[in-house]
Amino acid sequence: MTSNDQYDCIVIGGGPAGATCATILADHGRRTLVLERGRFPRFHVGESLMPQTYWTFKRLGVLDALRQSHFVRKESVQFVTASGKESRPYYFTDRDPNEWSTTWQVRRDEFDKLLLDNARAHGAEVREGVGVRRVLFEGDRAVGVAVSPAPRTADASVATPSGAEEISTDTSSEIRAKVVVDATGQSALLSRQLRIITPDPKLKKGAIYAHYRGGLRDTGRDEGATLVLHTPNREGWFWYIPLPDDIVSVGVIGDPLYLFHGRGDDPGATLSEEIANCPAVRRRLIGAERASGVYVTSDLSYRADRMAGDGWVLVGDAFGFLDPVYSAGVLLALKGGEFAADAIHDALEAGDVSAERLGRFAPELTTGLHRMRMLVHAFYDKGLSFGAFFRDHPEHRDRMVRLLIGDLFTDEIDPIFDDLRQYSNLPDPVPLTVKG
Ligand SMILES: Cc1cc2nc3c(=O)[nH]c(=O)nc-3n(C[C@H](O)[C@H](O)[C@H](O)COP(=O)(O)OP(=O)(O)OC[C@H]3O[C@@H](n4cnc5c(N)ncnc54)[C@H](O)[C@@H]3O)c2cc1C
Repeated sequence: MTSNDQYDCIVIGGGPAGATCATILADHGRRTLVLERGRFPRFHVGESLMPQTYWTFKRLGVLDALRQSHFVRKESVQFVTASGKESRPYYFTDRDPNEWSTTWQVRRDEFDKLLLDNARAHGAEVREGVGVRRVLFEGDRAVGVAVSPAPRTADASVATPSGAEEISTDTSSEIRAKVVVDATGQSALLSRQLRIITPDPKLKKGAIYAHYRGGLRDTGRDEGATLVLHTPNREGWFWYIPLPDDIVSVGVIGDPLYLFHGRGDDPGATLSEEIANCPAVRRRLIGAERASGVYVTSDLSYRADRMAGDGWVLVGDAFGFLDPVYSAGVLLALKGGEFAADAIHDALEAGDVSAERLGRFAPELTTGLHRMRMLVHAFYDKGLSFGAFFRDHPEHRDRMVRLLIGDLFTDEIDPIFDDLRQYSNLPDPVPLTVKG
């Protein structure tokens, strides 16, 4: 690797946000380099998609590959209360009976590889096993990256059970580009480097999760449903996501104090304990066996206070991460990657890679993110019963389905929040700074 390499854009991280951004930049004819510290396929959490991902998949040209894959079709989400009462499923196709109202429950090792290989096929240069150490600046402007062997400590979100990760043998060097995109997921390399990241104190949660083989699967249109099940003590909730090959992804999320303190140092034992204490999950896993390691992620939910600066942009989890109860992470990563790629292309055309120009999409993206954040805060409000809310306001059920589909970028959704505010203390938007 030489220090004179010059690209239009360097994308750090080859997850869904980085791969999307790189594919679209390459489609625009931009010389794009993706640096990914792992080697794909690799395990990653975040398997349940939202139907609105369809439009980005279409643009990326991966719909046929997804249709032909063995990923499970997801047509609904269902909630189970602490007492075990099941909500009516929120069927996406009931409001709009089209292909784009369904989506997939994916294995992220395969899905992420599909997207990254697609970026390559569209002309992006992808180097795996190359970790970026820091983003290089001249004054306030990002001008490239310093790369080095990938760090030994893995990202929590992509951690192997042992914490080990394959490392590159590249020696440290610098690569320059007109624009640097941080798509490093929860590593959030650049916003940590710039110290512009703030946790969401009310959503400081941890998660313990694993794959199980042989768990109960519903049939027909419910086969691919995501289940969100409260624990009986309401201290946490489970996801139950059917995947291919008779696997279900099961995870519990709760306050770190509840999940990790005074419970020994074996997260697998805590996960088994939580399953045993939750009849609605326990009965689904009778006879099932664990088919993966046990993974832990903590410190969920944070956001950077800027999305772009001179010569740099943040996309996906590198900008912000929201508690995964409604499965919005991949959608927001795809949208961020797509919006950023178009903004970068326009900025390069204009010869102006200022913060204002690169970050022009930030208000739209953060408004969508905020809609989801309000819904997440409402979910954790122990005083709020969604059942009671929808009995009082049946007119909002359609808006709820639209939110679960990921239809986040329209103000037609907002009346649900006007009324929800009467039932729950919804958060204010987090301000977005254009220039630090
Ligand atoms: C417990 C949990 C459950 C979740 N469930 C869901 C769900 O059901 N549905 C959903 O949509 N979302 C879910 N999410 C969120 C989802 O996983 C993320 O939002 C999504 O993966 C974000 O994509 P990304 O491309 O921004 O980051 P990532 O997918 O994390 O990709 C980042 C990439 O950057 C690479 N990288 C990191 N640092 C460097 C570096 N220094 N140099 C080079 N490369 C680097 C990493 O190796 C990684 O491949 C969940 C998250 C958690 C924690």
